[in-house]
Amino acid sequence: MAEAFDALVVGGGAAGLMCALTAGQRGRRVLVLEHANRVGKKIPMSGGGRCNFTNTGASPANYLSANPHFCKSALARYTPQDFLALVERHGIAWHEKELGQLFCDVSSKLIVKMLLDECAAAGVRIATSCSVEQVQREATGFRVRTTQGAFSAPALVVASGGLSIPSMGASGFGYALARQFGHAVLPTRAGLVPLTLSGKHAERLADLSGVALPVEARCGGASFRNAMLFTHRGVSGPAILQISSFWQPGEDLRLDLLPGIDALDTLQQQQCERPAAELKTVLADLLPRRFAQRLCEHWLQPLQPARPLRQFTLPQLREIAALLTAWPLVASGTEGYRTAEVTLGGVDTDGLSSATLQSKLVPGLYFIGEVVDVSGWLGGYNFQWAWASGHAAGSAL
Ligand SMILES: Cc1cc2nc3c(=O)[nH]c(=O)nc-3n(C[C@H](O)[C@H](O)[C@H](O)COP(=O)(O)OP(=O)(O)OC[C@H]3O[C@@H](n4cnc5c(N)ncnc54)[C@H](O)[C@@H]3O)c2cc1C
Repeated sequence: MAEAFDALVVGGGAAGLMCALTAGQRGRRVLVLEHANRVGKKIPMSGGGRCNFTNTGASPANYLSANPHFCKSALARYTPQDFLALVERHGIAWHEKELGQLFCDVSSKLIVKMLLDECAAAGVRIATSCSVEQVQREATGFRVRTTQGAFSAPALVVASGGLSIPSMGASGFGYALARQFGHAVLPTRAGLVPLTLSGKHAERLADLSGVALPVEARCGGASFRNAMLFTHRGVSGPAILQISSFWQPGEDLRLDLLPGIDALDTLQQQQCERPAAELKTVLADLLPRRFAQRLCEHWLQPLQPARPLRQFTLPQLREIAALLTAWPLVASGTEGYRTAEVTLGGVDTDGLSSATLQSKLVPGLYFIGEVVDVSGWLGGYNFQWAWASGHAAGSAL
């Protein structure tokens, strides 16, 4: 005999918990099935332990999806202000960082506690260390066999997330289930992820690990102005994580090393003010010293950067300015799902209702959060999608 509920939610992450508490508040009997030993494991590690739980400027333009319109409905009906109101009701102190990003003052664990308190108040039952073994469709809904027994419900919500950080419980379960019920799954790949360098590109930049500088990273039509950080394996930092979601191996990736500054103007001004200064010295004043050295050794060597600025012609200054504003970063790949903050691609939105996240193919089946082909930029947008899509499904089932 299967124990009966109104809704079974597979995955107790951000989206699953929001969906469960929303449905529970509407009087639905909800069971969350979580295969890890705790729910919401990604939340404590998010935002450097302070959880960047939303972004005040979140709009559909901050999301990647094969259908950029799909996220509009859910985002409009559960806004960053709605989540902030919940945070404030629980007395969680928060602050705004740059670019509308909201963080907890003390600890991201408070967000997990808030979600669990809301679930408890709404009578949501949560089963941890509970693995789903089989999902069957029946006349009245779904029957789910798990390591803790069988459960049935007219609604089944798949909130099992993407493939990023397998050590935190990530699995391909949601994609397999989507396929089982005839849904298309768009190719997945790691997003918001550090890039790796190899061969001569890695050698040229070896020893720079720990060096950071502001850049504007550009790929295709996308561009992000923020910090970049050299790592042991390649490059990271917010500008790189952002552009990584738009980049694929082999594509042209350029960095403006003096974002917001007219490089040619600056060089000409320096030439007037410090004609005797060597180019390498001037660059070391504009950029981190060790990085400027590498640029001179490997990219500017033909121009003899040890010469005083007065000796440089205008075409040469133009050449240097062009390099500084569009430095080619030849990455070999990404660090992959091991460190990626999100999984791009996923359950094709064509098969889902944008208002409720319900399957158009199988009534009662819902897909929410990261498992869906909607991925946010860095900066609180991914949690906002988890809250909004969870709320949309939780309000409908
Ligand atoms: C290091 C890191 C930092 C991040 N920081 C931020 C941030 O500050 N701000 C932001 O907006 N976003 C951040 N993100 C992204 C954000 O965490 C995710 O977008 C969000 O958690 C997605 O929510 P979700 O509920 O869809 O999936 P998840 O939170 O991944 O939850 C899915 C749940 O399903 C469970 N599960 C998986 N398979 C099964 C199965 N077969 N049976 C049962 N349960 C299963 C998993 O164990 C997990 O608990 C960060 C991500 C990482 C990895």
